[in-house]
Amino acid sequence: MSTAKNNNTSTGTGEPNVFIELVTGKELATLRQPFQPDKNELEVILARNGKKRVYPLFEICCIQQKEDPNHNTILRNAHDLMEIETLSGTKHLVRIAKEQRFQKGFYGSYLDLDNPYKSVFFTHLGVKSSRQLNFLGTILEEQGLVSRETLQEVISDYNKIKKKRIGETIAQRHNLDQEKIEKVIRQMQKAGRIPQTARVGDILIASNLISQEQLEDAIAQQSREKNKKIGALLIERNHITADQLLSALAIKFQLEFVNLDEMEPSQSALASLPFHLVSQMQILPLNGNEDHLLVATSKPAEHAEVGDILRFITNRRIKFVVAPSHQITAAIEKYYTRDDQKVEDIIGEMSEEVAGIEETSDATDVDETDSTIIKLINKILIDAYSKDASDIHLEPGTGRDPLIVRYRVDGLCHISHEIPPTYKRAMLSRIKIMSNLDITERRKPQSGKIIIRYRDKKVEYRVETTPTVGGNEDAVLRVLAKSKPIPIEKIGLSPRDQEIFKNLVSRPAGVIICVGPTGSGKTTTLHSALNYINTPDRKIWTAEDPVEITQKGLRQVQVNPRIGFTFQEAMRSFLRSDPDVIMIGEMRDRETAKTAIEASLTGHLVFSTIHTNNAPETLVRLVEMGMDPISFSEALTAAIAQRLVRILCEKCKKSFKPKKEECEELKLTYGPDWFEKHEMAKAFEKAKLKQRVGCKDCDQVGYRGRTAIYEMLLNTTAIKQGIKEKASTEELRLLALENGMRTLRMDGVEKVIDGVTDLSEILRVC
Ligand SMILES: [Zn+2]
Repeated sequence: MSTAKNNNTSTGTGEPNVFIELVTGKELATLRQPFQPDKNELEVILARNGKKRVYPLFEICCIQQKEDPNHNTILRNAHDLMEIETLSGTKHLVRIAKEQRFQKGFYGSYLDLDNPYKSVFFTHLGVKSSRQLNFLGTILEEQGLVSRETLQEVISDYNKIKKKRIGETIAQRHNLDQEKIEKVIRQMQKAGRIPQTARVGDILIASNLISQEQLEDAIAQQSREKNKKIGALLIERNHITADQLLSALAIKFQLEFVNLDEMEPSQSALASLPFHLVSQMQILPLNGNEDHLLVATSKPAEHAEVGDILRFITNRRIKFVVAPSHQITAAIEKYYTRDDQKVEDIIGEMSEEVAGIEETSDATDVDETDSTIIKLINKILIDAYSKDASDIHLEPGTGRDPLIVRYRVDGLCHISHEIPPTYKRAMLSRIKIMSNLDITERRKPQSGKIIIRYRDKKVEYRVETTPTVGGNEDAVLRVLAKSKPIPIEKIGLSPRDQEIFKNLVSRPAGVIICVGPTGSGKTTTLHSALNYINTPDRKIWTAEDPVEITQKGLRQVQVNPRIGFTFQEAMRSFLRSDPDVIMIGEMRDRETAKTAIEASLTGHLVFSTIHTNNAPETLVRLVEMGMDPISFSEALTAAIAQRLVRILCEKCKKSFKPKKEECEELKLTYGPDWFEKHEMAKAFEKAKLKQRVGCKDCDQVGYRGRTAIYEMLLNTTAIKQGIKEKASTEELRLLALENGMRTLRMDGVEKVIDGVTDLSEILRVC
């Protein structure tokens, strides 16, 4: 059945250096080239006849090698002790490392130092079964901490303890003769004085051998002993120390053993887990980012369970290291302060002055408002604002759990403060007072706003309260700081797109639509455009909800749908007020969109936004909303999709040489066909790829600030035709690409190549 090719030209000799286990037999041979795990074939000179032979990998179960240039790496990284059985029926006791797994098979290294073969490569197809053999004893023994004899002895003691009956424990404890006890029991049972099923302890009490207390004492001792683990026995008998056991357990669970005295946990990591949790679980968060958290534990055996809980709480992947429990206790003591100190500390941490704050809402005095709460809430409002948070989340825990304060910064939430549970009701009441809400209404959602003055700036917070489980209420505060427009050169447009955009917005008429989900920076882009054309010769009206960016020269209007002043209403009013340019916050309905198109056709330049995912989809959506394809295709200037991505921290980002797979992934993200057409290979040669690190400046996150990626669809003749013919999103997308559009992902990849952000950010947002 062999499909192997025979070749009679014999080249090269030398000592056979590999032992090949085939599905159908075995061969001793010499490799013709160093073994490569990703090759499909193996070319060898057979020892028995000196002939060259090529085996396809699927005929091979495993290849044992005498020397392997990778052997040391394999050995160093190998953790799992495995028993591998191949299809040909042999068993191998080897160590396996995760890093040494390949598409077609995996490496193992032999434990037995006398074995002339050091490493072995198993093909996936050739493995019949594999079994993990991570015994704590084996690890201790390998580390030279205990001898095999000691271990055997302890294990047999351990088994004895497990099997010991209560009678024996009592006998030992009270110097009673075991035989005597059993004799008494037998006699009593014979005499029919006690039922067969009676418990030994009861019998002993009944026969006045021991007292009730003595029995309870013995039961307690026994349950303690039965719960004892082998490790504990080894420590008790002074064979190993507790730290040695822990380090062995760390190896067993493939976790790193660390010395906490040499490590400094990051503030953000500490803030990510509350005190009550770390003290209860005896863990210590060390560092991490928004994807993962590194946590020290002294109970490696429980790490999987604890990890599940922590992952649920933090919504991050949890990585563990192991540290002695006395170090963890000391660190918790050192880094976590007690509840009563905590609020004062939190207030202290946010060191901005509060004196400048003056509420403009007319809050009535309520008895329960104590000065700590007032100070705390004011500090949080200012703290979040000064950290550029877009939202503040107040999330009271149930029962004795604390209230968690999270800020959303650069698009992602993170825990900022943890307020002891005694304060949670008062905090919510205070927020409701400040935003003029009914503090007695705790079962219905309410909305309001808080306006404060801080350093001559008016900061507005849109408040939403929502009843949550356990009789709590959550509050979310959206921070609306009046800000200035960003110059068009700084919003993240590529030089090419910038030229196009400047040209588009300088036209006298048309419709320019910015698209993307909430929080993708659409309003910022439109204001930058308005800023660029904001000259005395143009009359510019804007209708927004809310007005977040103010510009001198614009006439800005805040719409208020509750009193019937809608975008549609504002639009009509603008058209009567001799405008050149109109910005309408959002095309929420068909009427608004229709009016915008009409305005464009009558010689106005209209800017607006809509919630769609990409530029081509927007055109289809608007036609579906009931726009007349002909007038819409005439009115439209461009649809611009965008997303915000985080910028790699300038202070700590570092250059790296991408691996082959990473280059492939970038190319794949860009779209392989267009990668060629756009001659991206050239740009790639000059790539300045950067990766994130994390430093003090970026709070160990590795990102700081955000920029936008864009997809600019221009309404060319071809697109116009497409709209009129009601082309599909996909058809319009292809047309646009042929007309020079770069998709969001393409623009993103270019920013990755320029070292502005990284691929994971691009893939996160689109
Ligand atoms: Zn940094």
